[in-house]
Amino acid sequence: MKDNFFDKTFEELSGILSDFDPKPFRLDQVLRWVYVKGADDFSRMTNMPKELRGQLSDVLDLTPLRLLEEVESPDGTLKSLFQMTDGELIESVIIPEDGHKTLCASTQAGCGMGCSFCETATIGLKRNLSRGEILAQIVCAVRRLGNRLALRNLVFMGMGEPLLNMDALIGALEVIIDARGFDFSPRRITVSTCGWVPGIDRLGRENLGVNLAISLNAGDDETRNRIMPVNRKYPLKRLMKSIRGYPLHPRQRITFEYVLIDGVNDRIEDARRIVKLLRGIPAKVNVIAYNRTSAAWSRPDDRVMNRFQEILMSAGLLATVRKSRGGEIGAACGQLGARAAGGMNA
Ligand code: SAH
Repeated sequence: MKDNFFDKTFEELSGILSDFDPKPFRLDQVLRWVYVKGADDFSRMTNMPKELRGQLSDVLDLTPLRLLEEVESPDGTLKSLFQMTDGELIESVIIPEDGHKTLCASTQAGCGMGCSFCETATIGLKRNLSRGEILAQIVCAVRRLGNRLALRNLVFMGMGEPLLNMDALIGALEVIIDARGFDFSPRRITVSTCGWVPGIDRLGRENLGVNLAISLNAGDDETRNRIMPVNRKYPLKRLMKSIRGYPLHPRQRITFEYVLIDGVNDRIEDARRIVKLLRGIPAKVNVIAYNRTSAAWSRPDDRVMNRFQEILMSAGLLATVRKSRGGEIGAACGQLGARAAGGMNA
């Protein structure tokens, strides 16, 4: 079986190339074809010798994800269901926002964190993605859009808990940021976590400059324990300490996501707790209406949402109500639940 091209570090690729062809510029040539031009076949790399192209395509796979299904919602959100070489399924979502696009990528097949409001949790954790499988989702989005520059932002908010797949995540981020890879500015990349404290600490130590988002969803341990089991292991005090240690550049902020669920975490006192909790942290709060899942919950009405936002803002916090995208096709936050071919929207 061929190896996933995207699992190889640039050094490893360089070694493979020099086995076939000693010319030192071959690596840069291949990387340009793959990361800038989105080539999905070595035969297209017409400025390289035919023999080399044949040798490379015998050992390296440029299409490690098989697109099983693609759905587009009326708002232009595009959800793709991919099958990996062992049959496991993942989803990623391209979200259009005024003039540019954001890719929401997955880091695990399924998820083991068990948040009670999230569809992915109902699958359980199947397995971690490899760095190459993380990267391949971006490759597929670039090929689909026809141009790397059409993609502006990259968020790790798809299936899975990114910080429980650290090595693959860091390996992928290095290629995403590298000028010879996808050449993304770290400020255009956001890693979102349910609050896995050792992961936040490690990501901080790696000091890549990427944005950190925390799925907060409650301002007290009792409520948070109830909807996010991770909180029993790392309660709010511990979590906030770790967040305060995350290195930020001037003007960079930590994003806090807050999914409003009717009757669960949408009271005035919940908003006041958030104000207290985030005091002194350069923060931005994204208030999100709960999107329908198989759980028996609902979103509060707009009046409650706006009141929540106003309490945060009048205390001086930056708070936005995030417009939900892709809800019609089950592509919105918390709705990624790939199970089987044809199972999207199920
Ligand atoms: N494990 C990571 C990334 C995946 S979840 C994390 O927890 O951040 C991505 C975002 O979707 C989180 O902010 C989560 O709170 C939100 N989310 C999950 N279920 C949702 C739902 N039903 N409605 C709205 N947002 C949801």
